[in-house]
Amino acid sequence: MISMVAARQIFAALLILAGFSAADIDGVIDQKIAQYNAQPSVPFIYEAVGRTIDTEIGGIVYLQLKNPQTDEIIPGVVDLMVVTGDTAFLPGEIGYSAAFDQLPPNMLRDVDTTPFKPSADSSFMESIRDYQFPWREGSWGTVTRSYGAHGPGQIDFDLTGTGVTAAKDGTIIYANDTSTVNAYDRGAWWYWNIIIIQHDDHEYSLYGHLAQNSIPREIKDRCYLYYNRPNCAVPIKAGELIAAEGNTGYSGAPHLHLEFGQNFGIVSYFDMMDGDGDGNRTEFVFAPYLYAEQNAAFQGYTPQQVAAWEYGMLHQASHRALPTPEENLVRNGDFERGNEEWWPSGQVSWAVQEGVMRFLRLNTSDPPAWASFYQDLNYGAPANTPFEVTLELGNDSHIDKTITVTLRSSAGRDYGFVECSFMIPANTALSPYKMPLKTTSTWANIRLEIGVNPADSAPAALVDNIVVAYHPYVDLPACPAES
Ligand SMILES: [Zn+2]
Repeated sequence: MISMVAARQIFAALLILAGFSAADIDGVIDQKIAQYNAQPSVPFIYEAVGRTIDTEIGGIVYLQLKNPQTDEIIPGVVDLMVVTGDTAFLPGEIGYSAAFDQLPPNMLRDVDTTPFKPSADSSFMESIRDYQFPWREGSWGTVTRSYGAHGPGQIDFDLTGTGVTAAKDGTIIYANDTSTVNAYDRGAWWYWNIIIIQHDDHEYSLYGHLAQNSIPREIKDRCYLYYNRPNCAVPIKAGELIAAEGNTGYSGAPHLHLEFGQNFGIVSYFDMMDGDGDGNRTEFVFAPYLYAEQNAAFQGYTPQQVAAWEYGMLHQASHRALPTPEENLVRNGDFERGNEEWWPSGQVSWAVQEGVMRFLRLNTSDPPAWASFYQDLNYGAPANTPFEVTLELGNDSHIDKTITVTLRSSAGRDYGFVECSFMIPANTALSPYKMPLKTTSTWANIRLEIGVNPADSAPAALVDNIVVAYHPYVDLPACPAES
C-alpha cells in the first residue's frame, strides 16, 4: 500500500501529464480579464462570452467589449483571447500571434465569432447590390480571400499597389490615413488606415489597410483630424479614387480589405503597440468598423457566386455606364468607309469592295494560327451583360468556310470570351444572322472579332452590316442556326 504523500505525488504527476485542468484554465482566463479591466481609464472592459478550447492545449476565448461606465455591450466587435498552457494573451500583447499560431489548425477552423455579433437584417438585403470593383477603370484585382474564406461581407483583393476607388455612390463618413503601423499581429486589427462610405441608411462599405497618406487631398481637406467619431461628409461617386492600396494594420502583404455591412461603430483601444512611436501606450487609438456584415453582390454576380470565388481569380474593373439599349456600338459596321475603325489580326487578307468586307485566311502554317479582323467598341460591361450581335455573312469562294463571331475583353482571351461559329457553304450570298452573347466577366473594353477558317487563300468570306447592341430584354440561347 502506498502512502498518502506518495499518492498525492503520483496524482500531481498525472495532472502534469494530462496538461492543465479546466479549473486551471478558468483561473488563467479570469485573472487575465480582471487584470485588463482593472487598468485606469480603460476604454472598454472585456467579458468572456464563449470559447473554442481544449483544456489540455488551450484555445480561444471570445471576448465581448462593454462600455465601462454604462456596462452596455459595444455591438459588433468580438476580440479573441489566446490561451496556451498557463498563459493568456490579449490582442495587441507581445506573444499574441505566436501563441495563436501554436493552436492546431482544426481548432482555429472552428473559431467563429458570428454567434456573438448582431447579424444582418435580411429586409435590407435588396439594396446590397450593384457594387463595382473598387479599383481603377480597366485595371485588375486578384481575389485573395472570398466571402466564403474570409467571413460574411468581407473580401480581400490584391491590387498590385494601385488605386482604390469607391465601389458605389455614397458619402465618405470616415477617413484616416495617418497610421504607419504594419502590425503583423492577429490581434491588433485597429492599426489600419481606412475609409468608410455610407450608401444608404443601413448600407456601408469599408476599405481597409490603405497606404499611409494616400487619400486624395480633395477628400482629406474636407475631413476633420479627429478620429473618435465620423470625421467627413464627402459625397463620392462610384469609380472615383479614394486612396491607394496599402499594408497598414494586421496585414501580411499589401492588399485591399473590402467589407460591406449594415451598421458602423467606433471603438477605442489602448495604443498597446505604440503605433505613433511616442512611447505612450495608454493613449487611445480609434478603430471604426462595420457590423451586421452582409455579402454584397458585385455587378454581374450574385453574392453566392462571390462567396465561391477562388484564390487567384482576376477581375477587371469597368466603371463605364452601360450603353443605351439597342444603340449600335459598332463604328463603320456597314463598311461604307472602307476598313476604317477596323484592324486586321493574324494571317488575314482583307479588302472592302462595294461596301462589303471580303476576307480570307492565307494558306500558310506560319504563326499566329488565326485570321481575323476586329474593333474595340470602347464600351465596358459587367459579367453576364447581354448583347445582341446581328450581321450578314456570305461566302464568295468555291470551298466551304467557317466564320466565327467573338466578343471578349480587349485584354485577351484569357479573360473569357463568347463566340458563335457558322459554316457558310461555298458560293452563298450574304444573309442575316443574329446571336445573343453575354459577357463572361467584367470587360472594361469589349472587342468584337470576326475570324475565318480554313487556311486556304480561297477568296473570300463576306461580312456586312454589323450591329452590336446592349440588349437587356432578350434571353435567347447563344449561337442559333441561320435566322
Ligand atoms: Zn481582409
